[in-house]
Amino acid sequence: MTTTGAGDGAPRTRPGTPTEQGTLSETLTYTAPCPDCGAATDHHGVQTLLTDGRLRWDVESSCGACGSAFAACGGEPPGELRDRMLAEHGPAKLRVRTPPPTATAIMRVVRATLGVDLAGAKALSRRAVAGDCSGTLPEMELLARELRASGIDAVAERPDRPGGRRPPQPLLPPQPLPPPQPLPP
Ligand SMILES: [Zn+2]
Repeated sequence: MTTTGAGDGAPRTRPGTPTEQGTLSETLTYTAPCPDCGAATDHHGVQTLLTDGRLRWDVESSCGACGSAFAACGGEPPGELRDRMLAEHGPAKLRVRTPPPTATAIMRVVRATLGVDLAGAKALSRRAVAGDCSGTLPEMELLARELRASGIDAVAERPDRPGGRRPPQPLLPPQPLPPPQPLPP
């Protein structure tokens, strides 16, 4: 398992880190053809975890060529955009800090939260216990909140971005001190 930089203690607060039950969002800016004229247009996508526990995906763009504006919202980002969001921000990991003896309790929460089928929930909960469940930050934060609401201590964490701030290198083990020299007479 890789270390995530946040350590084993209390979650570290950084800019943009959500407070419990607040909204949380992750953004993606990408270029796509204008739906009206086909010119390459900047689109701004945002995945938001709402306070009521729903995930929402919104896209907005306004075309510099024809002036047409476009907005859409839906449940989930398309797979390709979700991948790009993960690549841009780095995946967040769900960490269950006090794993229950079986994955059943987690499975129940995962099923209720994500509406996935039994097999999917089973696989996901096993990965959660193994520390290998990752996704976008809003997605993982949603799962972590639902797990906490069920009494399972879980957090969503994101390792530092590759190429960004690097975690501190481990310190060298302390060198043994040389034996004290007798003072000259
Ligand atoms: Zn246009």
